[in-house]
Amino acid sequence: MARLQLSKLEKVYGGGFKAVHGIDLDVEEGEFMVLVGPSGCAKSTTLRMIAGLEEVTSGEIRIGDRIVNALPPGKRRIAMVFQNYALYPHMKVRSNLAFGLRLAHVPKAEREAAVQEVARILEIEPLLDRLPKQLSGGQAQRVALGRALIKKPEVFLFDEPLSNLDAKLRASMRVRITDLHKRLKAEGRPSTVVYVTHDQTEAMTMGDRICVMKDGHIMQVATPKELYDRPANLFVAGFIGSPEMNVIDGQIEGTDFRLGGQVIALDEAVLNRMHSKPQEAALGIRPQHMKLSAGNGLTARLRSAEFMGHEVYLHAMLEGKEITTVAGAAEYDALDRSDERIRLTPDLGHAHIFDRQSGRNVSLPLAG
Ligand code: ADP
Ligand code: MG
Repeated sequence: MARLQLSKLEKVYGGGFKAVHGIDLDVEEGEFMVLVGPSGCAKSTTLRMIAGLEEVTSGEIRIGDRIVNALPPGKRRIAMVFQNYALYPHMKVRSNLAFGLRLAHVPKAEREAAVQEVARILEIEPLLDRLPKQLSGGQAQRVALGRALIKKPEVFLFDEPLSNLDAKLRASMRVRITDLHKRLKAEGRPSTVVYVTHDQTEAMTMGDRICVMKDGHIMQVATPKELYDRPANLFVAGFIGSPEMNVIDGQIEGTDFRLGGQVIALDEAVLNRMHSKPQEAALGIRPQHMKLSAGNGLTARLRSAEFMGHEVYLHAMLEGKEITTVAGAAEYDALDRSDERIRLTPDLGHAHIFDRQSGRNVSLPLAG
């Protein structure tokens, strides 16, 4: 258990390509931090620098009160779980778990006690005498987790550990890993976690906080709720949330937001929050905050509907731009679809205004 701090961390690869652009990140002791972003945004590079598998170009990595830049991986008190967990195929689960301790010359009795404890925590006791080929994907991933856990590291590093599993297993492993994190905390062994994924659902459901990355830069660090409710910029707004937030380009004139031939009158719910009025703006509104309305509101042309069970996602064209709205199943049934035109009213209390140029959300209260 230890705090992890990255300051001005930079990575330039051999060919001169700058992958990480001087990032600062503070992970509290016992915190579950998720690094999320599209493929290629330097999540793995960042994690591998923390692990000591990749040299730091400049900046500092601190674990607890030690600067670890110059320490080899084995001396950093970290453990890493990868996507390809590669258990030793000829060794039983028991020996796979104990392998690291054997290398470290831990006495046999102590090793066996540690294996028992980890097996108990991960509920893999019945699997101890099996070979890796006799395990399901989820079981093998739990053993890989056990191999990390048994080292009692100060920081756990995960790099897309679930991406090889099918959707159902992934969902149950998500819960297992966060449960494990909570349990260790309750037992007085809080473990600091940095968990890398490109999957926003994993990020939202697992992270105490989430660090959203793009092209080697940090876009925002916040709790899942904060990211969802108060995205700092267009990138975060588009990345977090499903179905995706609608982003509608337009111009602000006085208190009007103009998009093509239509106008949204910005009310105080938005105007009071805005700290600048960009000329070229984008209105961000999540599908569930774009309500079907009768008579007034924006006019859009309905293109398709996806039936999801208790609700329906409606895809429509608004001034040449595809937008999505969510309707209740009954509401959809009652909708007059004879001319393919629907009326929509954005709930401005939940709307965001972005500066098109900088991408910044200019409708967040500045403090608090
Ligand atoms: P992510 O894990 O977010 O998908 P990576 O950290 O693997 O991203 O890669 C970040 C960027 O650095 C990518 O553009 C990738 O092509 C580049 N990169 C990764 N490894 C190397 C390397 N060994 N040499 C040069 N460029 C690399
Ligand atoms: Mg990666």
